[in-house]
Amino acid sequence: MKITKISVYHQNLPLEHPYWLSGGRLKFEVLDATFVKIETDAGITGWGEGTPWGHTYVPAHGPGIRAGIETMAHAILGQDPRQLNHVERAMDLCLPGHLYAKAPVDLACWDIAGQAAGLSIADLLGGRDETGTWIASSVSSGAPDYMFGIIQSYRQMGYKSHSVKVGGDVEKDIERIRYLEEKRLPDERILYDVNRAWTRREASIVMNAVADLGITVEQPCETLDDIAALRQVTTTPISVDESLVTLQDATRIARDGLAEVFGIKLNRVGGLTKAARMRDVALAHGIQIYVMATGGSVLADTEAAILAQTIPMEFRLGTWACQDMLTVDIAPGQGARNVNGKLTVTDVAGHGIQPDEDTLGAPVAVHQV
Ligand code: MG
Repeated sequence: MKITKISVYHQNLPLEHPYWLSGGRLKFEVLDATFVKIETDAGITGWGEGTPWGHTYVPAHGPGIRAGIETMAHAILGQDPRQLNHVERAMDLCLPGHLYAKAPVDLACWDIAGQAAGLSIADLLGGRDETGTWIASSVSSGAPDYMFGIIQSYRQMGYKSHSVKVGGDVEKDIERIRYLEEKRLPDERILYDVNRAWTRREASIVMNAVADLGITVEQPCETLDDIAALRQVTTTPISVDESLVTLQDATRIARDGLAEVFGIKLNRVGGLTKAARMRDVALAHGIQIYVMATGGSVLADTEAAILAQTIPMEFRLGTWACQDMLTVDIAPGQGARNVNGKLTVTDVAGHGIQPDEDTLGAPVAVHQV
């Protein structure tokens, strides 16, 4: 089987409400999404998506995905999409780095491989657990009662897990965390996500001040060196998100004991092929895992839910449904949807999603042999 055609679509995905990242320092209103349709000489078609969380969250640029695919197209065309490691190597040789541009191609190839084998991608990735994954809400930063209001609205949608954005003023963060922990229900899980907003000093003050609460803090500072230093002066469990980009990052975190949780974001790490190796490193080191889309439609959420559902329950902390924050649905009725706070993938071959091409409009680029 060979890849004969790559069609690239650009779609803006507006957020229902403006969103402020930790510390209120970055505002987001629309996501720049790229959808990729890969066709083969066997008549099987696969779909992928690449949607960074805006242009300012991490080094990933929406239009860069389209440009990256244009650069890599000649190396991708003619590949057998079922040979994921070959496709991965062809892309890595053609364009070093730029993992976020490779993720949508990787997902489309997994979709084709699944359809060709008559298996779900989760089964190809080692085996699908029957049980779905708890969705963590994403709670925008603000005053404690404003944030609790958001949590309450997600509770009404069945959510039992929340990723709460903190990371501004130290005193206010301690107040926010204590306030929300007091209101947390016994069966709820809250991850306090700093999105790199604290200095080492600020992180040390807050994490030690709330050490009695047994909370987990995500990405407290900018770099892995910061987190390594912080690990020496705090006991509060740490999740690494933005600093987990490559497999080398994963092995360093695991070997050096820098964190107790991996936050794997599919678009950032380059897709399922690379993310599955991080999963295995985590499992081998007793590290629990969140698997999330970086942002995007039901397709990106389903990609994350697929990998999540290959992780044993005791290691699987949750996923995210960015789709619940958008005003556009590119594949109504398809893919993993919130049901009582969980995303669940079925045993449909591939990922089972065919975006509505009327919604996507004409492709912005077509590459073919
Ligand atoms: Mg995070």
